[in-house]
Amino acid sequence: MTITAPASAPAGTDTTEVDVIVVGAGITGIYALYRARQAGFSVVALEAGSGVGGTWFWNRYPGARFDSESYTYAYLFSEELFDEWVWEEHFAEQPEIERYLNHVVDRFDLRGLIRCNCTVTNATYDDEHGDWTVETADGTRLRARYLIGATGVLSVPYFPDIPGRESFAGEQHHTGLWPSTPVNFAGKRVAVIGTGSSGVQIVPIVARTAASLTVYQRSANWCTPLNNSPISAEEQADLRANFASIREVLNTSLSGFLHETYDRATFEDTEEERQAYYEQMWNSPGFGKLISHYSDMTIDEQANAAWCAFIEAKIRSIVDDPETADMLVPKDHRFGEKRPPFVTDYFETFNRPNVSLVDLKSTPILRMTESGIETADGLAEFDLVVWATGFDFGTGALARMGIRGRDGLALTDYWRDGPKTFLGIQAAGFPNFFFPGGPHAAAGNNPRYNGDQVDFVLDLLIHARAHGFDTIEVDPAAEADWTAMIDRAARRAPSFGESSYYFGSNIPGKPRKYLLNAAGRPKLLSMIEEIKSSDFKPFQMAPGSDGRNRG
Ligand code: NAP
Repeated sequence: MTITAPASAPAGTDTTEVDVIVVGAGITGIYALYRARQAGFSVVALEAGSGVGGTWFWNRYPGARFDSESYTYAYLFSEELFDEWVWEEHFAEQPEIERYLNHVVDRFDLRGLIRCNCTVTNATYDDEHGDWTVETADGTRLRARYLIGATGVLSVPYFPDIPGRESFAGEQHHTGLWPSTPVNFAGKRVAVIGTGSSGVQIVPIVARTAASLTVYQRSANWCTPLNNSPISAEEQADLRANFASIREVLNTSLSGFLHETYDRATFEDTEEERQAYYEQMWNSPGFGKLISHYSDMTIDEQANAAWCAFIEAKIRSIVDDPETADMLVPKDHRFGEKRPPFVTDYFETFNRPNVSLVDLKSTPILRMTESGIETADGLAEFDLVVWATGFDFGTGALARMGIRGRDGLALTDYWRDGPKTFLGIQAAGFPNFFFPGGPHAAAGNNPRYNGDQVDFVLDLLIHARAHGFDTIEVDPAAEADWTAMIDRAARRAPSFGESSYYFGSNIPGKPRKYLLNAAGRPKLLSMIEEIKSSDFKPFQMAPGSDGRNRG
């Protein structure tokens, strides 16, 4: 069955047979493609977008940028790649990230293996042959021994069910489905709905040129400064010189970041020392504010409240209008209970005369009309509406791929009460199907975890090939243990609360189940090593009933 796949097979044919189909050409899919090809498997990647990049292809709204340091979020599998790519900023903007991912695809000669504009609609496991048939929206069918769903956790945009949304006559765009043609805000009356990480990134940019900007906020967020800056030539040289040690720190830190942890607890310091440390945190880059903070900040209520009081004072000192400032102070959750957004000039934007804030808790949106948005306060007219209303996190994309495993079992039925996985890479009853970077996969710097999982999946495939096995399926008991561990850890919820979309709580009707990896990266890595040295014991492997094998 090892046939080299043409990446441009005509629509509607069902001729392509490969060892591996990767679905998605984002950061995880590109790496899976690279690893599978490098290991000698025939492989093709199917990508719904017209270009590669996944999240960093679709989320091309102005202001979109990394909020993990560029060089820690990028690939680390090749020191040459690390050396030759010169990141312009500590937190790169979307166009640079998209350029980088295209560079990787070309540099490692992967483009010919990627079919863009190719949306998977069905994927069915064939019990008899132990392989998968994949169908795409244009009717193309492909067969593969192994299916890797690298579809990401934030890839299905969520539009709230607001009556009349389709009747709006102006322009409307979701941040996660941003058009590739420029969107012009100049002189327009613009609404932004949603104030999560995407909303707070786009708001300051829109405000610069729009005639008016109205921000519709349901819940305020604990936003703190990103503190981005250009990477100087000296810093660039340091990064190159320290590649090995950077990789080592990322591989041994709890969640894949460079930021060091801090071993002091909040109230070990005097009030004066504490305020100085808070100031230092406020001025530190990105996730340092979570990771390098006082060790008890996310777990001790009083410690958390003290840091929140500091942020509140900052908000009130930046925002001129006391009523607006008050609306921007979160009242319903602690810092770190939701994924904290990092901002540039966000609070300052509310001092502009063209910007106003609407509190949706007191005046919810009733409907959209042809000309705008109606709340209890009346109709506000707009030329352009931006939906920054988030995603069907974790399971959204996998649930829309029509996946059917052994005996026709639908993944959506199997996961009706929430995902069941082993290590966040496989589900029992779905042999030869892997989903690195999916639910239960990561909690922190995603590409680091997702890369580990891709490596592990390839280790499994190589092991199966070397031993003449055709099917790989996780033992249900191993899956049950891992899933129970995630659920237990979620109940202890040291930091994230159930109000976070990490529990699926932003999607009406979605089961409230923790969707992140709760083990931490060092634990994940040590489990992977243990499994490898046990000859992959938690996995049942068998030769195919048709005797076909890729040996
Ligand atoms: P999000 O964090 O889920 O925020 C969605 C926003 O929409 C929230 O303010 C939410 O309000 C609001 N909303 C949802 N339904 C609504 C409704 N029916 N009516 C009014 N408002 C509604 O989504 P996001 O901002 O796109 O961010 C998602 C994740 O993507 C981030 O947490 C992050 O992991 C990632 N991201 C990363 C970056 C980066 O790395 N630089 C940038 C952007 C996004 P409530 O809070 O009240 O639910």
